[in-house]
Amino acid sequence: MFAIVKDRPGAGVAHTTAGDVPVAEAGEVLVRVRRAAICGTDHHIYKWDAWSKARVRPPLVLGHEMVGDIVEIGAGVEHVHVGQRISVESHTVCQHCYQCRVGQAHVCANTVIIGVDRPGAFADYVSVPAYNAWPVDDRIPDAHAALYDPAGNAMHTLQPLAVAGKNVLITGAGGIGLFAVAMARAMGARTVGVVEPGAVRRQLAADLGADYVLDPTEAEVANAILDETEGLGPEAVAEMSGAAAAMTLALDVVRPGGSVALLGLYNDDVRLDLSTAVIGKGLSLFGINGRRLFDTWRLVDGFMLRQPDSLARIVTHQLSAQRYSEGFDMMDAGQCGRVVLDFSA
Ligand code: NAD
Ligand code: ZN
Repeated sequence: MFAIVKDRPGAGVAHTTAGDVPVAEAGEVLVRVRRAAICGTDHHIYKWDAWSKARVRPPLVLGHEMVGDIVEIGAGVEHVHVGQRISVESHTVCQHCYQCRVGQAHVCANTVIIGVDRPGAFADYVSVPAYNAWPVDDRIPDAHAALYDPAGNAMHTLQPLAVAGKNVLITGAGGIGLFAVAMARAMGARTVGVVEPGAVRRQLAADLGADYVLDPTEAEVANAILDETEGLGPEAVAEMSGAAAAMTLALDVVRPGGSVALLGLYNDDVRLDLSTAVIGKGLSLFGINGRRLFDTWRLVDGFMLRQPDSLARIVTHQLSAQRYSEGFDMMDAGQCGRVVLDFSA
């Protein structure tokens, strides 16, 4: 079967047609992949950054943002069936640790991630736990249904911020931040502001309905945000860049008593004056990991069904899977929204 693999330690990825089709073990389903999108995580593994070196053990099939059809079910699988079109939660969880048992499986103690810790979805076939399968409504096209996972990251980040009626700021309009722009608008935010250094992504954010978009490399960004928020500062900030400078800006501009949800992962140490920046301002900080299983998924269903035009803007490129290197090049250049690969041929 065709598969895109991290074949060895070091930068880059390769493809193979030599691998065997996986089998659906007990509790799993075998999926014929229709579409899979390139995520920032795949891009990290492609670049072979410090995180990837520490975590990933080649050879590994990459990919985890996907939609496909169930073609085989393993022993004991009852609630899904052959022929169903599904998307897949990429975090496989144990269902028995304390977090899993109290409804917080997104921070399961035994999380294993598809395409990071076990074979992924950049392949004709992938086997996944049946528990992770999310049946997809027929009205949602494949290119959108492949994006439940990152759309879920954005939705999960906005969930604790309760953005309705608030001035919302999103730092980082990348593959996840762009969803948050459309969602915050749809959820009735008073204003949605975006800080993003990339010109293509600033334009995409504006097209998705951001009220103002700012370039953090220009001076006076904090003042510009205050100007846009009646001098108060945003009540809610979604930090979706993983840039330490954006984190500092978020804490600086958020209004006292406001909330900051942190999705971005920081490669560098982030220095904070906690006493002044967080405690003195009486802020609420939320660490966001993955998606809530599965209430976030249900909310993303609503987004997928009601906002197809936003999704069509976010998916800037659709390529046959064989053209994966062009997709990674586009991610490198930051000249794209989401790149979706077609494995159906
Ligand atoms: P991405 O690289 O597509 O987007 C990040 C964006 O931030 C880019 O567009 C970049 O230009 C922008 N940026 C860089 N410096 C900035 C600055 N100073 N101010 C504002 N924006 C800046 O990544 P993504 O896939 O959208 O993921 C966003 C972040 O979330 C990454 O750090 C990623 O590692 C992390 N992530 C976290 C989880 C989780 O569960 N917590 C899941 C997926 C991704
Ligand atoms: Zn668990």
